[in-house]
Amino acid sequence: MKVTQIETTVTLSPPRDKPLRDALQTLSGGGSVTVKVYTSPSPLLSKEGLGEVAPLLSKEGSGEVGIIGTGSAFFGRIPGAPKTLKVLIDEELAPIVIGRDPFDVRAIHEDLKRETEYHGFTGITMFGIAALDVALWDIVGQACGVPCYKLWGACRDRVPAYAMVGWLNYTVEELKPICERALKEGFRAVKMKVGCPTLEEDVQRIVAVRSVIGKDTKLMVDANQVFTVAEAIRRGKVYEELGCYWFEEPIPAHDYDGYAEIAANLTIPLATGENLYGKEEFKELLTRKGADLVQPDLRRAGGPTEIMAIAQMAAAFGLPWASHGGGPVMLNLLCATPNAAWLETGFVSGGKPILEDGCALAPQGAGFAWE
Ligand SMILES: [Mg+2]
Repeated sequence: MKVTQIETTVTLSPPRDKPLRDALQTLSGGGSVTVKVYTSPSPLLSKEGLGEVAPLLSKEGSGEVGIIGTGSAFFGRIPGAPKTLKVLIDEELAPIVIGRDPFDVRAIHEDLKRETEYHGFTGITMFGIAALDVALWDIVGQACGVPCYKLWGACRDRVPAYAMVGWLNYTVEELKPICERALKEGFRAVKMKVGCPTLEEDVQRIVAVRSVIGKDTKLMVDANQVFTVAEAIRRGKVYEELGCYWFEEPIPAHDYDGYAEIAANLTIPLATGENLYGKEEFKELLTRKGADLVQPDLRRAGGPTEIMAIAQMAAAFGLPWASHGGGPVMLNLLCATPNAAWLETGFVSGGKPILEDGCALAPQGAGFAWE
């Protein structure tokens, strides 16, 4: 089986009427790039034996059947980014993948990083590498007729899930029903943003949320990189007193020594990693003892191949990992790694993820399909 064609599609998001806001950024709308990777007929599939496996590409009347793997990269802001990424995928990355066997996905991943090293494989380049990596694993899962977490070697069939619903653009009064809805949907943990101009405002918001979620629901807080080390330690001690479950991204993501200083001065678990690129940057964070839990992002970390390596590296340091963002790819990864702790997601949408006792159930579709 070989990759025969790669199709990229840009979808622009209209500007949001009410942009979501964290302490650092306003998410006014951006868009996404979808990649479809087409293969030649697979020796593992025949037209007769297709069963429920989908989506599939069949050459008209030939009886030959190939597979379509899908990946995507989403931008919450910067409307020009999807078009930029499309050019990068079409002109630089796709030619490296076309003609290759999708089962050589790890070799292809290394080649994509090496071939883009001249201008850097981080930044937007990694968004493209990640989307292709997702599509290739999707093909391998479909070819084998199993969800990827089974393909990789399953550790579990569910993982605790929390709802990231407490954006900073919501007033204190708006926050309460939003958190109530998360509990009604079956979540037993919610995350809210902090990093208001004053600590007093943060405290007021945390107390308000706690008043509706009760003492048994876990409450994570996320500062999106806005503090100094000193301010992070000052506020972190207060979040800790208020019973918060973890303190996320208090300072700029690449200040590894700063993270180590904060971790050494707080008892509340320190979580970070959504803005790190590739296993190399996670190595820096972990060797300097800068986190108690790591949170790779599917796009920035570099796709499933890279996240598997990051999760295993965290395991070697005795640390858990949680996803930054949700979806079926992350859920498959969490179900195939022994140190997985949490799936991050928004509200349940279209019935997904399916929650049971506060846990998200593993998707059962081949590749990365939900079912
Ligand atoms: Mg975050």
